[in-house]
Amino acid sequence: MNDLLIMTPGPTEIAESVRKAMAQPITNPDLDLKFFDFYAEMVSKLQNILHTENDVIVMSGEGILGLESACASLIEPGDRVLVIDNGIFGRGFADFVRLYGGEVELVEFPDDRPVNPDKLEAILKEDPNYKFATFVHCETPTGILNPAEEIIEVLNKYNILSVVDSVSAVGGVPIEVDSWGVDILLGGSQKCLSAPPGTTFLSVSEAAWEMINNRETEVHGYYLNLIPWQNWYEDKKFPYTQAISDIYAFDQALDNWLGDKNVLLRHKENGRAVRNTLKRAGLKLFAKDGYSDTVTAFKKPAGVDYAELNQIMADKYNVMIASSVGKYAEDILRIGHMGENCYEEKIYRTLKALDKTLRELGVELKEELQLIFAEELA
Ligand SMILES: *Cc1c(COP(=O)(O)O)cnc(C)c1O
Repeated sequence: MNDLLIMTPGPTEIAESVRKAMAQPITNPDLDLKFFDFYAEMVSKLQNILHTENDVIVMSGEGILGLESACASLIEPGDRVLVIDNGIFGRGFADFVRLYGGEVELVEFPDDRPVNPDKLEAILKEDPNYKFATFVHCETPTGILNPAEEIIEVLNKYNILSVVDSVSAVGGVPIEVDSWGVDILLGGSQKCLSAPPGTTFLSVSEAAWEMINNRETEVHGYYLNLIPWQNWYEDKKFPYTQAISDIYAFDQALDNWLGDKNVLLRHKENGRAVRNTLKRAGLKLFAKDGYSDTVTAFKKPAGVDYAELNQIMADKYNVMIASSVGKYAEDILRIGHMGENCYEEKIYRTLKALDKTLRELGVELKEELQLIFAEELA
């Protein structure tokens, strides 16, 4: 491979220490008791990052596995689930809910701004009869950060359990699972925590465990079932063999995160600087409000083709940025400034490559992107 800088909103760059951790000698994770203590240590690191005393489970699989596990383990046929939707991942929850027999009530908000907790409350006042609610913390395709704390406050007021997809937020923005009262928060390894894709994690509250343990029907799925994860340490038994090399990498990434006291501040400052840079150059951000400091989505200038832009950026400048997905695939470009991507030098190099590429494609920019960026951070 080359030295391509992958400034996408996951997978991100990973640190050399994380890469090297994958090459460590392995043991038999089902039989070596030391591995159970290692895994417990890793769980306590995640509890620190999430600010929670809830159980945290780390599963082998991509973020979607965490999301689907929460749905599979909670839903019984006919359960009413509130799916809060202001973007592609938000609505995507509806498919998982239906797949496990739940009845979806979709609450739609505009895609270009964060969910409005007051409007949500007005809806719940009329009908609060839901087993749980789902929402996405950061809508990665559009770069919007939803006000998780306020949304959860409303849900808790009506005794509705919360399932929060924080895959592209956790590690890049402040998260307080216990003081906010989140029931299930799920994340992935390859976004702001900057490990390779391959692990997902969930924090599970007492109330969520109670709901899962009091099911009348069996969970449809084995790999997805959270129930066998309740006593892994006491029983010294995982539901299946753990992907030990991925876990070594993930654990090292957690150490790097915990050792970096400026990590959240860096996301805040770089996020602001990227947004201001694009605006000052005459480009347009997608969202009207509620920008995430982990990813910036901006409107693709007219006449630019992403495939061509990507090829020029990669071939000439060794930098990759992303387009978007679903109905925004043709309209949005995205810079992932999360985790290991979130350093001034890397963003400077990205903006310089983007500046030169856009000009080559005939786009006029008011000033050079990388120069505005440097000024914004000065
Ligand atoms: C990345 C991501 C996931 C995991 O999905 P993949 O596209 O398969 O990586 C889930 N939810 C959100 C919000 C994400 O950004």
